[in-house]
Amino acid sequence: MKSTYEIYDDSFRDHYSAVNEEGKRNWFYPQKPSGFWHNRRAWFSAVALTLLFAGPFLKVDGQPLFLFNVIERKIIIFGLFIGPQDYWLFGLAMMSFMVFIVLFTVVYGRLFCGWACPQTIFMEMVFRKIEYAIEGTHTQQKVLDKAPWTTDKIAKKVSKWSIFLLISFVIANLLLSYVVGVDELKKIITEPLSEHWSLFGGVVGFTAVFYFVFAWARDQVCTVICPYGRLQGVLLDRNSMVVAYDYKRGEPREKLHKGQDRNAGDCISCQQCVVVCPTGIDIRNGTQMECINCTACIDACDHMMDKVGFPRGLIRYASENSIADGTNRLITPRVIGYSVVLALLWGVLGFMVATRTDTETTLFRAPGTTYIENSDGTVSNLYTFKIFNKTNHPIAPTLKLESPQGTLRFAGKPDLALDPVGMSEGTLFVTLPKSELNKRKTDVKFSVYQGDKKMEEFKTTFIAPQ
Ligand code: SF4
Ligand code: SF4
Repeated sequence: MKSTYEIYDDSFRDHYSAVNEEGKRNWFYPQKPSGFWHNRRAWFSAVALTLLFAGPFLKVDGQPLFLFNVIERKIIIFGLFIGPQDYWLFGLAMMSFMVFIVLFTVVYGRLFCGWACPQTIFMEMVFRKIEYAIEGTHTQQKVLDKAPWTTDKIAKKVSKWSIFLLISFVIANLLLSYVVGVDELKKIITEPLSEHWSLFGGVVGFTAVFYFVFAWARDQVCTVICPYGRLQGVLLDRNSMVVAYDYKRGEPREKLHKGQDRNAGDCISCQQCVVVCPTGIDIRNGTQMECINCTACIDACDHMMDKVGFPRGLIRYASENSIADGTNRLITPRVIGYSVVLALLWGVLGFMVATRTDTETTLFRAPGTTYIENSDGTVSNLYTFKIFNKTNHPIAPTLKLESPQGTLRFAGKPDLALDPVGMSEGTLFVTLPKSELNKRKTDVKFSVYQGDKKMEEFKTTFIAPQ
């Protein structure tokens, strides 16, 4: 985003910070962050990780709270099972989620990236902390990487890579427990491996992917691979809250010289905001796509401000407009537009969930048939039907004719004991007395029951002689 102040050196726009002048990877060694915001993020990450790892074990009515088994087309969101018959519901839920993300980003910028994205949480709060613990500070890490392969270096690197591999294995299991469920995953341990090669292959494959992501790709996941990150350019506007440098207060930047009168801005050019940045950018150049709003530069700058006796907040959460002219409009036409769309989507979604039935029945008159006049003065129509079980557990529904008064008789003995997500089909006769039929087409109402509980109600037409 272009800032309203003049950037006296905008050469940062000419290159990608993760690639050096020889076209090779610029490996970042960010200084270990600490401070007010980092502490809060650490606590938030601990809670988020606890919830993430507890998620697959939480069950409602014997089924997981969340399941995303796209292979077997079984999705469970907050205990609501979404089978193949309800994919439109899943589509609507995803659409609402996307509009919510857009609205959230327009208002709060990349708050999600810095605080709640699993990539940031695992990278900055788990893997990076292990790296600091084994290899030391960012400068010690740099020295170690350049040093020859001594016993000490081999020991440090092997320990780090082994722990990374172990955590990647744990994350792979976590991911698969959200896809196939913990019960299915347990089978790899409790049953012969030969019966679960595909699942085992999934664990190995995802372990390799996560190891690659956290040991090598790192910042490039956020700056190159993640589609959400790439969308920031169109989602953010001048009213979005981002991690921002207050150029009005900070410029012109100048080193602090003891005993000299200072006419410059508050930025003392200490570069602390740059050395802590895990994506290798200088936030003083303005909002950039690489910034994941991790708050490390806020803490680093506040620390320097404390040291030199200037007020904190030279880098802070702020919108471009609030820095440029002190205006901070949270409610903009764009925000109102997205809110209206989101409210409509949530309204439709809520209505659909509230009126959703556990079965879905289709019942049509058998092709090529009209009516049969019986010798006892009644009329019969022949129908074909299909009953789908939309739940994730077996059910044994019954089909009843509600109105008008008449009889329903199955042709043959259809098996109405339905497996989870199962389907049963058959044909049936509906017979009505002529006293109920005073026109050619009469509406007939049916219900599907599970025990005494009415699961579904639907209508069709009955044809009679005129
Ligand atoms: S600029 Fe600041 S908030 Fe953005 S990624 Fe770098 S350190 Fe984190
Ligand atoms: S940490 Fe603050 S004072 Fe130091 S260079 Fe960055 S913005 Fe300027």
